[in-house]
Amino acid sequence: MARRTVYLDYAATTPVDPEVRAAMLPFLEQESGLFGNASSVHRFGQDVRRALDRARDAVAAAIGGHSSEVYFTSGGTEADNTALLGVLLAGRERGRDHLVTTQAEHHAVLDCAHFAEKALGFAVTYIPVGPDGGVSPGAVAGAVVPGRTALVSVMHANNEIGTVHPIAEIARAVKGRDEGVALHTDAVQTLGQMPLSAEALGADLMTLSAHKIYGPKGAGALYVRKGVRFTPWLHGGMQEREKRAGTENVPALVGFGRAVELLPSWRDAEAARIADLQARFLDAVRERLPDATLNGPAPGPRRLPNNVNLAFPGVEGETLLLSLDLHGVAVSSGSACASGSIDPSHVLIALGLPLPLARSAVRFSLGRGSTADDLDHVAGVLADCVRAARV
Ligand code: PLP
Repeated sequence: MARRTVYLDYAATTPVDPEVRAAMLPFLEQESGLFGNASSVHRFGQDVRRALDRARDAVAAAIGGHSSEVYFTSGGTEADNTALLGVLLAGRERGRDHLVTTQAEHHAVLDCAHFAEKALGFAVTYIPVGPDGGVSPGAVAGAVVPGRTALVSVMHANNEIGTVHPIAEIARAVKGRDEGVALHTDAVQTLGQMPLSAEALGADLMTLSAHKIYGPKGAGALYVRKGVRFTPWLHGGMQEREKRAGTENVPALVGFGRAVELLPSWRDAEAARIADLQARFLDAVRERLPDATLNGPAPGPRRLPNNVNLAFPGVEGETLLLSLDLHGVAVSSGSACASGSIDPSHVLIALGLPLPLARSAVRFSLGRGSTADDLDHVAGVLADCVRAARV
């Protein structure tokens, strides 16, 4: 009998929805006549341009924005870099050279912030997070230096521990301190979990990515509210209204547009289903491994429904990940293997977890293919793997 495999790494990436795939295929082939370059003036180019426009309209509609406020990118990483560098570079021209962000952002924000600081001479304040990854709007606003801060960047939900941040309150607090500060939020992990409105969140810039919502990898968008200034940093073409040079990845962006169009047909029901599975899985694990601890907030509105991040005292998370993989279970750990040693996740360290506990953590992220039966099975396999790792 074939070995049972269970994929529980949907926060890393999702498979492509068959309808998305079908929408993309014509844009790869000669026969359809839809393989053109969207910048070409001839009919091949213009047909493709229309498809890109439709995808842009879909993305804008999904977050309550206008199509002219959506810039396509190669994914969430590029959108985050564009938000930070673009607003900082534009800010410097009017004396604003300061960025406020948190210690628990995705590396796409954090490493870019380090680059802005070390290589480009910007000032950056990294706000600490609380024991469950939360940040207080007052602390964020308190770090703003009126007249000097150009941008505040706080993710909508954390990819490792699922903490959902009160972006609307943060926006109000920040603007209350200085209206001239732009607010960026990385919503890569929330787009597929809950309805999003840039206006309701008070976000001036928002990062989105296709491959977490059953779209293709290598496609994303940065929403930039009209009137927010950002300086392009990728040069060499007039694409994206002269803000992002480079031939558009048309098949992937068309797929992104289709994935976004499909969201209303499944997102809410799926989020409710996954939340039930999240609770069931947590119960099943705790029953077998009472000393396992949940990193991040308790299940509920402050936590993504698809995220279960657990620490297993006395176990190396990376070892656990490998032994789960041998048993057909795909999960992820926040650790990064750098030069032979395993660095614990910066997010878990920011929570104040002791090093060994941070190193013991594993993230299980649920998605469309997850079933109750799979999760019961994984809880059993996990308990065996943890016990084996402890002897
Ligand atoms: N931001 C967050 C919160 C993410 O989870 C990810 C991907 O894991 C990214 C940014 C990067 O997105 P992409 O993989 O599309 O570059």
